[in-house]
Amino acid sequence: MPDARTGGCLCGAIRYETVGAPVFTLRCHCRDCQRHSGAAHVPAARVPSAGFRICQGTPKRYVTKADSGNDIVRVFCGDCGTPLYVQVGTRPDLIGLRVCTLDDPSWFKPDADIFMKSAQPWDHDQPDVPKHETYPPGQSYPIALSRKQ
Ligand SMILES: [Zn+2]
Ligand SMILES: [Zn+2]
Repeated sequence: MPDARTGGCLCGAIRYETVGAPVFTLRCHCRDCQRHSGAAHVPAARVPSAGFRICQGTPKRYVTKADSGNDIVRVFCGDCGTPLYVQVGTRPDLIGLRVCTLDDPSWFKPDADIFMKSAQPWDHDQPDVPKHETYPPGQSYPIALSRKQ
């Protein structure tokens, strides 16, 4: 991913900018992500929150507990409902960006598929991508996980 990227919601009320390369890319197949997105999985990139900023609008936040027991904040546009990113309470330094909200998501290549235990039987493409039943070993974040830990 090039250094600076922009994105936003469907209606255009929320715009954001993200600077810095992702530390991890993934596709999350957990039921929460499926419900929140209305899709079988969510392609996401973990990016530094220090390089992320909302340029326009004020998104809404929805807080739930992740499987790990940590708070997970799901941030979305209150006007059109587009899910934009998630943040885990224990890792405020990182943002789990929903890559399809970027203006150009075409660079995306997943490092891993996670929460395959709830993957839909009709959603098993890209067999070469490493698969994990829940979190990869040593990781405890549904969407915001890192190689650095
Ligand atoms: Zn919107
Ligand atoms: Zn998920």
